[in-house]
Amino acid sequence: MHKHLFKAVIFDLDGVITQTAKIHSSAWKRMFDEFLQDYSQNHPIPFRPFSHEEDYLPFVDGKPRYKGVASFLESRSIKLPYGTPEDTDDMHTVCGLGNKKNTRFNEIVTTRGVDVFPSSVALLKRLKKENIHIAVATSSKNCDAILKATGLQSYFEVQVDGAYSATHGLKGKPDADIFTTAADQLGVPYDQAVVVEDAVSGVMAGKKGNFGLVIGVARENNALELEMNGADLVVEDLEALTLDMIDRWFEEDLPEDGWQFLNKTYQPLKEKSKETLFTTGNGYFATRGCMEECEACDFHYPGTYVARLYNRITSRIADKEIENEDFVNVPNWLSTTFKINNGPWFNPETWKINYFRRNLELASGELTRDMLVTDPEGRTLLIEAARFVSMKNKHLAGLMYCITPMNFEGRITLKSGINGDIINSGVERYRDLNQRHLQPDREQIDGDAMLVQVKTTQSKIGIAVAARFPGNMPHRTESRNGQTYAYWDIYLQQDETFKLEKMVSLYTSLENNNDFAAAAMHTIKETESYYRHAAESLTAWSEIWEMADIRLEGDREAQRLIRLHIYHLLCAFSPHNQSLDASITARGLHGEAYRGHIFWDELFILPWYCKTFPEAAKAMLMYRYNRLDKARAYAASKGLKGAMYPWQSGSDGREETQTVHLNPVSGKWGEDFSALQRHVSLAIAYNIYTYYHLTGDKEFMDKYGLEMLEEIARFWISKAELKNNGRYSIEEVMGPDEFHEKNPGSEKAGLKDNAYTNLMVAWLLRTIDELTGTTHKPSIISALNLVLSDDGILSQFDGYFNLKELDWEDYRKKYGDIHRMDRILKSEGLNPDDYKVAKQADTLMIFYNLNNETVTALLQEMGYQVPSGYIADNLDYYLQRTSHGSTLSRVVHAYLARVIGQDDLSWELFQEALQSDANDIQGGTTAEGIHAGVMAGTLEIVQKAFAGLDLRGNTIIFNPKMPKHWRRMTFRFRFRGERFEADIQNGKTSLTKLYSN
Ligand code: BGC
Repeated sequence: MHKHLFKAVIFDLDGVITQTAKIHSSAWKRMFDEFLQDYSQNHPIPFRPFSHEEDYLPFVDGKPRYKGVASFLESRSIKLPYGTPEDTDDMHTVCGLGNKKNTRFNEIVTTRGVDVFPSSVALLKRLKKENIHIAVATSSKNCDAILKATGLQSYFEVQVDGAYSATHGLKGKPDADIFTTAADQLGVPYDQAVVVEDAVSGVMAGKKGNFGLVIGVARENNALELEMNGADLVVEDLEALTLDMIDRWFEEDLPEDGWQFLNKTYQPLKEKSKETLFTTGNGYFATRGCMEECEACDFHYPGTYVARLYNRITSRIADKEIENEDFVNVPNWLSTTFKINNGPWFNPETWKINYFRRNLELASGELTRDMLVTDPEGRTLLIEAARFVSMKNKHLAGLMYCITPMNFEGRITLKSGINGDIINSGVERYRDLNQRHLQPDREQIDGDAMLVQVKTTQSKIGIAVAARFPGNMPHRTESRNGQTYAYWDIYLQQDETFKLEKMVSLYTSLENNNDFAAAAMHTIKETESYYRHAAESLTAWSEIWEMADIRLEGDREAQRLIRLHIYHLLCAFSPHNQSLDASITARGLHGEAYRGHIFWDELFILPWYCKTFPEAAKAMLMYRYNRLDKARAYAASKGLKGAMYPWQSGSDGREETQTVHLNPVSGKWGEDFSALQRHVSLAIAYNIYTYYHLTGDKEFMDKYGLEMLEEIARFWISKAELKNNGRYSIEEVMGPDEFHEKNPGSEKAGLKDNAYTNLMVAWLLRTIDELTGTTHKPSIISALNLVLSDDGILSQFDGYFNLKELDWEDYRKKYGDIHRMDRILKSEGLNPDDYKVAKQADTLMIFYNLNNETVTALLQEMGYQVPSGYIADNLDYYLQRTSHGSTLSRVVHAYLARVIGQDDLSWELFQEALQSDANDIQGGTTAEGIHAGVMAGTLEIVQKAFAGLDLRGNTIIFNPKMPKHWRRMTFRFRFRGERFEADIQNGKTSLTKLYSN
């Protein structure tokens, strides 16, 4: 007997072990046919018998009985009352029909007996011999009777069936309850257990439960469906399955699986969000995962964005001139498509997509897509595409496109080029604005190389994109108006493949001044094959992953998503940025939301970079230093001293926040006061301190950091006003909670004494004193004003406690998704300013930034006494009043919940944060770009909350408390010039100092 990496196999019953599927199908058919006959007598619906293929498989198979009845009836548009499980067989209710089906089933079992699949019994025997745990998990309420009839009962250590589910309130498939319950009862971690299923709802449940291996048994010719819905491995019969195959999966494929981000269904309405998630990039530029064949339309949006490449234009809206600085979508280098025999170009919306598989290989940054498509005339083609944006040479990208006729021979025309005749149209809300940022400059064709040169209309930034097709001289070319295309006319036999390689280079005048077009052409002419450059890029990624990876055992899905977050952060901002004057934008280089602007989100992002790529972190801060004069001018324009950084920052550091914005719920434009979030300057100060603390880079602090800190402090001191009560108040600000812009009934925008802002000001003044060894700020610190309730709740701002409470339950019922409570209230004619409703963590931010002792000490220094347990009380108070309208919110709450020991709550919020973009939990915003803050925030939670990494003073402390099913976690980090590797297992951490750099 040899050692296996998997410990248990959990079987579905019907259709996997027993051939009861047939009996079930017959029992359903008998019952439904009797019912449908009867129903057609009394209703104007002709009798159409129940069929195995058209009714049983799609609507009934694998579902709990009453659900099966309900979903079939719905498919025939028949409405019946639900009834109760006590209903008798003759009643026309969902339960009555379900009960009758059971009677028919038992009749057939007793008259005909139950057949088992011999191959399944053979597998059970092999597993038993190898001491692998075995369970059965089924929705069937007849499990006992059936197993008894087969004589297989003794094989199963655990049985979770329909009867058990009913008494224990377990949810049926596609929820994972019955499988996870079975694994829990066996005492086996989910990722070391195998689920064997024959139905789509069952493989979905296995996937949802995060099991180590989900095997689909496709006895019904449904292999593709099972694969599409989450089966890792599909066999036609269990005869084909060996234990070696399972072992190999656990040994080789499962570790690989954590590096793959896969998508197997093509859904036009979700395509834009997938494009964001399948972006390839290198920090300098990134390209959305749009299919090569598609141009911008309702379902697709090819976009390529270059760090700090903006353009400013004016639009006229509601009789106002509005000026916006936008992140510019540069020429589309993907553009590649085909047609057959001079027919129309391929269109994924009108052709049939038989098979679709898109995979982002996170380790190498290569995106691949395999697709089997059939045109309206029945001609089927296989398309295989691959691409990368080079992590080695930041100006380079490559594409490979293969096309194979599968059931015909004929002439194929392939077209590939560069399209610079485009506008920014990635965000629906901005459509009314003027979005033409590019003007064509020049097109050039030179042998197998081509170039498109364009210029931004206002910032006059030159952009050159060159392409070359190594080994494939075009048959003809065409160029006009910012576009160049090459064409190939080829005659292909059935099964014959035509392969096109396309190398691309991208340069701008930002870094190459007048030479950018020549540089693009020069680079492209030097390029070799796709493979060669893809391999170079892979090596560069491997070096990055060596430092950046967080390895996890025990949670398949969390492993994948953590890596997905690391990957996208590096597409948005990487070591390449060290030489660029750019910071990380809120939505990455992945889309046009927020116009590529830079907010306070760095506060959530910078710590991870300090610990992995400190030079890159420094570049984020240098972006701010280089705009210090603009921040000084901004403060001066408001009659204030020092430096006031803008809420939204773009190319030159002036305020880029819009003054009006569109409410998509009401369709109305309204005033936008969000620029009053002056706390952005505090975030910058906090980041400077964090960088200094984590890297020990004294030179930076002396040369740049301290100057910024002092200037920011000067701004706050000039903004604080001494009031009659002898305390300093700060007015006309907004906290991170953007739902509150002013006090109810007030004409004046802004709020007074936002607790987070005032506490951070106190922290800043105290920190500067500590850094410089002076004590010239204590008088202000101790007199800054706050409002607290008797039981220690910090008032979000002066006046908050007087606001009205909201009936949250009522709104949840009415709207379901209430994360944008502000828009909902406004569309109802109400004003969020009047209610205790927060978009995101505001007051609680102070506990995210500073440890508990520091906050308590600051409060004391400011003259406020707080009861013990006030942090938990504040969390509890504000969590109930927060709609999480920003993905950043869950990061903060998850972290704090962990700090105060509410581990279940912390885990729940962390999981939601982890799914923010992967599942597009805000209902569509991922389509407009990633949420870089939450992506990095989840990595911080992993390191700070779960590994308990506390870098305090000069010391490294670990206090791990990982989620229960995480068995092991390993990651590397840098601290004060040295590199470490932490390995956490069984609540213990081993820390190794790494010598090589
Ligand atoms: C959040 C801000 C954030 C911005 C950019 C907004 O929805 O409320 O806190 O800075 O998005 O990510």
